Amino acid sequence: MNLGGDIRFIDFHTHHAVGSPDTVVVKNLMAGEDVPQDFPPNTVFSTGIHPWYLTAELLDEMKTGLILTLAHPHVIAIGEAGFDQLRGPSHAVQRSAFIFQAELAEELGKPIIIHCVKGWDSLLKVRNELKPEMKWVIHGFRGTARLAATLADAGLWFSLGMKGLTEEVLSLIPEERLLLETDDSKGNIKDVYKGYSELTGKDVTEVTELIRTNFNNLFVK
Ligand SMILES: [Zn+2]
Repeated sequence: MNLGGDIRFIDFHTHHAVGSPDTVVVKNLMAGEDVPQDFPPNTVFSTGIHPWYLTAELLDEMKTGLILTLAHPHVIAIGEAGFDQLRGPSHAVQRSAFIFQAELAEELGKPIIIHCVKGWDSLLKVRNELKPEMKWVIHGFRGTARLAATLADAGLWFSLGMKGLTEEVLSLIPEERLLLETDDSKGNIKDVYKGYSELTGKDVTEVTELIRTNFNNLFVK
């Protein structure tokens, strides 16, 4: 994608928000869900097999559903996809679903939005095996500084919400691999921009340029 200067805010991962003249949102859909017939301008979509809703029995059906949803031109990313050690099916099923999605991301040239709870070793192992060219974005990161540093070293991108914005984590993430989001909260993306601006001392205009450039770069190999 190549957004111009009229776009001031990008909500990289949301379940609720919709686009507006100065805001692009990436709204999440379940694999197999139809892209709505009518959606406000500046609304694009991601779709993936989320570990919470995955079962061994449903895996094949979800893979087919994912491919169908991905066929819509407004679906720009795969996800949420990933590993969750507290919810969802066995590790083997989660791994199989994730590898399928990571390979599809390479084939289709789309980034992945990653949901990961405690499954960091599994995630990094797949990353090492596949050596993907597409960007992998950890969404809603709220882990320790040490983990942030490990993931940043591995080349991962980050999408942070209000609760993930800490000075320590921001000092460890390359700013050119950062995006902002509201996720499941009813918060406004403008407040997340403001929070980031306050923590970094950059003014909001600088932040809007940084995040817009990052977003555009996400789709460049
Ligand atoms: Zn989400």
